Amino acid sequence: MKINVIGGGPAGMYFAILMKKADAAHEITIYERNGPDDTFGWGVVFSGKTLANLREADEASHSEITRDFEAWDNVDVVHRNEKISIHGNSFSGIARIRLLKILQRRCEELGVKINFRTEISDLNSLRQRCDLLVGADGVNSTVRQAFADNFKPNLNVRPNKYIWYGTDQLFHGLTLTFRGQQAGIFAAHSYKFNQTNSTFIVECDPQTWSNASFDRLSDEQTRGFLADVFADDLNGNPLLSNNSKWINFALVKNAIWHYQNVVLLGDALHTAHFSIGSGTKLAMEDAITLKQSFDEAPDVGAALRQWEKVRKPVIEDYQEAAYESMVWFENAREYMHLSPIELAYSLMTRSGRVDEEELKKRDPKFVARYEAQLSSVDYADLAD
Ligand SMILES: Cc1cc2nc3c(=O)[nH]c(=O)nc-3n(C[C@H](O)[C@H](O)[C@H](O)COP(=O)(O)OP(=O)(O)OC[C@H]3O[C@@H](n4cnc5c(N)ncnc54)[C@H](O)[C@@H]3O)c2cc1C
Repeated sequence: MKINVIGGGPAGMYFAILMKKADAAHEITIYERNGPDDTFGWGVVFSGKTLANLREADEASHSEITRDFEAWDNVDVVHRNEKISIHGNSFSGIARIRLLKILQRRCEELGVKINFRTEISDLNSLRQRCDLLVGADGVNSTVRQAFADNFKPNLNVRPNKYIWYGTDQLFHGLTLTFRGQQAGIFAAHSYKFNQTNSTFIVECDPQTWSNASFDRLSDEQTRGFLADVFADDLNGNPLLSNNSKWINFALVKNAIWHYQNVVLLGDALHTAHFSIGSGTKLAMEDAITLKQSFDEAPDVGAALRQWEKVRKPVIEDYQEAAYESMVWFENAREYMHLSPIELAYSLMTRSGRVDEEELKKRDPKFVARYEAQLSSVDYADLAD
């Protein structure tokens, strides 16, 4: 089969690797607008379950990914200067650039051709010259836009602003920090992804953003402002920019996932709010399941239909959980009256997928402490 892939991110490269591994006769070319060492972002997160899926799909890249990744089992919630740790959550982090380099090397090893610094705009000629065209070109996908009448995309741009920074401060665990300031409430999502760096995403509502006049602040002033807000958390370490800009999260969905021999994959097809740390995970698991559909189907059309049937309900379920999480952060202001332990409990159960029973399994001490606080509040109420 001749396969053209637009986008050399995790989705496009991983799909190419799995297809080429399954059949070396496939002729696969990836077109990537950036160079091999250009990247944005800092670290990416995987759950223990995702790592097991990656091992099963391709042992070689899995062992490289896990060789020096940073693993943790705690979510830390910082509120009113108090840190509450909730254990029993298996996660790990790796630098996005490192992940991309591992996948690039694996493509090279297997004979997948990557044309770097090649921006694709003429989709039709590329589509006609292959059996399958994969649109793995990220959240602002050209492929999705070119075939919008067929994919019927829905883009829901959310009100909150967020910015993706790095820092040398190490956060040992997924750390969710809330800091109130004159302008409003700021939330930081942070985690280490190697031995020297952490991702540090700052999120705030539009009112807070305009109160702080970020539209008039330079990159350096913005980092200085936020380093002050999170001074107690950053320990004097600066926030590091990698062309970081304030953005609004865009929730992407597509009613139809494929058209003739064209299919969307990863962020081009769907997004899930970064508060559940899943963009890269979903992109790579898309690649695994799409490749599996090709194992069983007699032709391209059947494989794409089968994939949409199997994968869509999984993604819809994930997007639902991520939606709840996103809305929680959009309304973070409403939860600030809670005590630190109550806030931590509210956060852990925000997606509706983790209930008290599940939390008890993960960290019985945390639940016991939460229940003890609730009953002490009840007694206090009775005493009044
Ligand atoms: C600013 C920003 C920072 C981020 N940082 C992180 C982070 O630190 N950690 C994390 O977990 N997630 C991060 N994400 C989310 C994460 O990038 C995605 O969820 C994940 O990478 C999805 O993989 P993908 O392969 O579908 O898309 P992407 O990784 O976005 O890959 C798409 C690729 O397609 C290429 N491309 C696009 N259009 C064309 C074209 N017309 N021709 C040729 N090539 C094209 C792009 O250059 C890109 O390399 C970030 C997202 C953004 C927008």
